[in-house]
Amino acid sequence: MPNIPQIPLNDGKAIPQLGFGVWQVPDDEAQPAVAAAIRSGYRLIDTAQGYDNEEGVGRAIAEAGIGRDQLFITSKLRNGAHEYDAARKAFDESLKKLGLDYLDMFLIHWPVPDQDKFADAWRALVALRNEGRIRSIGVSNFLPSHIDRIVAETGVKPVINQLELHPQYQQRDIRDYHARHDIKLECYSPLGSGAVLDNDTIAEIAEKHGRSVSQIILRWELDQGLIVIPKSTHEERIAENIEVFDFSLDDEDRRRIDALDDPENGKTGSFPETMNDLF
Ligand code: NDP
Repeated sequence: MPNIPQIPLNDGKAIPQLGFGVWQVPDDEAQPAVAAAIRSGYRLIDTAQGYDNEEGVGRAIAEAGIGRDQLFITSKLRNGAHEYDAARKAFDESLKKLGLDYLDMFLIHWPVPDQDKFADAWRALVALRNEGRIRSIGVSNFLPSHIDRIVAETGVKPVINQLELHPQYQQRDIRDYHARHDIKLECYSPLGSGAVLDNDTIAEIAEKHGRSVSQIILRWELDQGLIVIPKSTHEERIAENIEVFDFSLDDEDRRRIDALDDPENGKTGSFPETMNDLF
């Protein structure tokens, strides 16, 4: 079973560098998918209230036969629960669905600028962390200006910003900001939700190393110290995506993948500036 590196966080905790994401996995498929991931050696599971599969994830955790302290479970606050009391209540519901008494990490899923309540949500997460019910707190889809605001209002930094990041959308412009503030980047859609898997350049590099395209992409992300959470519902792909710690890319491979960045057109998901859906 691969030995997954731990990435230190700015609150003294650590997170596995590679985990398993379950966006768009229906609740009844989440249990077998997460069970397969845990069998393959994944310990970080990334779900969200908005994915409607916390119960399925919870069933897999309950049946895994792995000590709770060996697992790192992340969920995310839904957009419609940013008010302080609503956020606390929503967190309680997550714990109940997951069958857990604490979360390793809880993130604000989106800033939802039109609603403008993300700072209230952050206060709720800070309180829950201080009460010991969440080990580490972070954000997702936050722009630097959103992070500046929650830090100014509470004095508490997020440990992580979970953002879309893959070879076609490399987020180069915000890397310095996060490094300067010691906020780790966690790549969501690390395979571009599948969109990067048919890239010819990466296919050539994959052939050279006798590896899959997905393994090359994940290795390129891991080499930059990024945290990755690929998703699959196929057992063989779940296993393939974690077998990335026994080979190396060379400088030329990395340069060729770096050159695929397409900040204008490479994004596959929603934009934080305009995502205001209250799920
Ligand atoms: P990924 O970038 O992980 O890509 C998943 C797609 O790639 C699926 O279509 C999957 O197909 C396919 N795939 C995975 N592995 C392989 C493989 N080895 N060979 C061929 N195809 C493969 O997509 P996601 O968008 O799901 O992102 C990953 C996770 O990031 C999410 O599940 C979620 O946890 C998180 N996320 C967070 C967001 C946020 O706003 N915070 C937004 C989006 C994602 P199949 O399943 O059929 O195998």
